[in-house]
Amino acid sequence: MRFSNRLMLSATTVLALTGLAVPATATTCVTLDQGHVDVVGIAWEDNAFNLHVHDEEHGVEHTPAEVQLIAKPGSQIAVPDDAAYSFLGTPGSAAWVLPQVQDPELLWPGIGAEEIASGIFTNDALKVTLVGVTGPADFSIFTTDAFGTPTRIADSGNGLPDTINTTAGGHLHANWAFEAAGTYKLKFKVSGTLAATGQKVTSTVATYTFQVQK
Ligand SMILES: [Zn+2]
Repeated sequence: MRFSNRLMLSATTVLALTGLAVPATATTCVTLDQGHVDVVGIAWEDNAFNLHVHDEEHGVEHTPAEVQLIAKPGSQIAVPDDAAYSFLGTPGSAAWVLPQVQDPELLWPGIGAEEIASGIFTNDALKVTLVGVTGPADFSIFTTDAFGTPTRIADSGNGLPDTINTTAGGHLHANWAFEAAGTYKLKFKVSGTLAATGQKVTSTVATYTFQVQK
C-alpha cells in the first residue's frame, strides 16, 4: 500500500494517530466493494509504468496483488431482451454489472491516467490492453450512451487482447460486466510511445482479482 503523493502527509498523519502505520513493503489484503476506485490506475515513475489500484474514496493506492475487488450481489442484473446486449448472454439470464454511472452501494471501477503529465507520451496517447481473463465466464467492459445502447470496448468473449485508448490525464468509467459469479483474474498492461525518443514502452502485466458474489 502506498499513498498518493498529494495526500501522503495527511494520510500518514492519520495512520500515525491511529497506530496503524504500515510499512511500504507490507503485503496486506484489502477488500474494496464500493466507492470510486480506479482499478487500472496508471502512473509513470522512474522511467517505468506503475499500475496500481487507486482508491479515490480514501486517497490510497494499492498494488494490484494486494486487493480483492468485489462485485456485490446487488450488481446482478437480468440480461436485457435487446440484441445489442446479446454479448452478455441470453435475455433474462444473470449477469453482474458494475455500472458506468456510480451507484453508491457498488464498486465504481475506472481507468485513470490523471497522474501522467501531458507531453511525456506522443500525442499523450496511452493504450490499456486487456491481455487475459481467467474465471468462470466472460468479462467485458462497455460504455452506454444516453439511450442505453452499449458499445463494447473489451470482451473476453470474442477473443483477447482488446485495447482501450486513453490519454495522459484521462479518466474513463464504463460498465464492467461478468457473466457468472465466482473469482476472476483480469490481466492488463499499458503502453505508450515516449515523445522525447520515440521509444515504445510497455508495463509489466498487472493481475487484478475480482470476486463476483451471487
Ligand atoms: Zn475514476
